[in-house]
Amino acid sequence: MSPFHPARWPERLPERYWLARARVPQALLEHPAGDTVALLVEGGRVAAIEPRAPGGAATFDLDGATVLPAFVDLHTHLDKGDLLAAGLKPERDLFAAVARVREDHGRWTETELRTRIGFALRTALAHGTRALNTYVDWPDPAAPEGPLAWRVLNALKREWAGRIDLHITSLASIDRLADEGAAATLARALAVHRGALGLFVYPGAPLQWLPRAFELAERFDLPLDFHVDEHLDPPTANIGHVARLARLARERGYGTRTVCGHACVLGVLDDAERDRLLDEIAASGLTLTALPYTNLYLQDNGLSATHPGQRRTPRRRGLLPVHEARARGIPLAFASDNHRDVFFPGGDLDMLQALALAANAAHLDDAVFDWADTITTTPARFLGLPNADGLRKGMIADLVLHPGRSSAEVLSRPHPGRQVLRAGQRLSAEEAVPPDFRELERMKG
Ligand SMILES: [Zn+2]
Repeated sequence: MSPFHPARWPERLPERYWLARARVPQALLEHPAGDTVALLVEGGRVAAIEPRAPGGAATFDLDGATVLPAFVDLHTHLDKGDLLAAGLKPERDLFAAVARVREDHGRWTETELRTRIGFALRTALAHGTRALNTYVDWPDPAAPEGPLAWRVLNALKREWAGRIDLHITSLASIDRLADEGAAATLARALAVHRGALGLFVYPGAPLQWLPRAFELAERFDLPLDFHVDEHLDPPTANIGHVARLARLARERGYGTRTVCGHACVLGVLDDAERDRLLDEIAASGLTLTALPYTNLYLQDNGLSATHPGQRRTPRRRGLLPVHEARARGIPLAFASDNHRDVFFPGGDLDMLQALALAANAAHLDDAVFDWADTITTTPARFLGLPNADGLRKGMIADLVLHPGRSSAEVLSRPHPGRQVLRAGQRLSAEEAVPPDFRELERMKG
């Protein structure tokens, strides 16, 4: 019988209990342990991590089941999520999708945004996510109130505090920084709500505005977040410019508060150029985010340039070189990116599913135990969250339990049987199940 069989688990867990014989990633522990550990949960926190449960309190025997810290999703687009349910179609090309969404912005209402974003937050909570960074399209930096989605997201951030820690990052093309006054207006709006400055650096983008991004980030005390090199057309690679500026900013005392998402082109550069850039990135303190869902779909996407209308099987993977990055100690996260929108017709903000795809696409060995940091501690550190060090005595008991005892068992069946604990208690029966898609009909008012 599964250790999580409902007959074994009361609806309300006791104030003090042991999770015995739990399999956990060794790298997330302070001290190496044996095959399994026992975690004492008391008053909503992990009060002890021991080789075995001594008894003396209620004990739940996990029989080798997996225990991970709750997930942190560093790269999502909640303002666009579930646009397919609003009637849009997948575009299969990054720039066509960007243009299609830009056309659609004017149609968005508060009701629709609340429906789509609320649906996303409930989904992420059910999957075991405790914190999430979302981008918000920011077409007009000169407007001090920001876009409608920014205001809706800030309201939802307050409403969701304690369940999901929502971080919000602007997303504007780097060319939007050309107007110095508008750029400062954008940075000021972000600073008021503790957002982050996010910019899209596409191939051929005017890189002369990159230093301004760092000036603004330092002046307004903002984290910096780039969508960069989301393509497979070498030799263009803009990430080297970002890394050089990040290194200079770090030397001035800004710290390591810059993240670059995508960087797909690094995966197809020749080895020497790739290694040179990765060395620069390692020296700069940049965090990298790999987005296998959207990038396996949008890169080398089988659209034939020579025979339009004909499908062609993709040859290359839209994935940055994660093994080479990790070998250099570069902080690396996997994240969700788009879900059910014009960029990608799938995805469900489930970090275990994202890790399963990454494990297959990037050939990660023992992904759940050796790469758990990519969906827990590394993104938590970047966002400056509490409990970012791994499984520690004293941490809030925000945990994901899975009946699988190995990466193979967990990743081949990522969802069934998952138990999410928040501050040591199970989610309510309603919270524990992702919402039904039919609820998205509410967006139509
Ligand atoms: Zn993105």
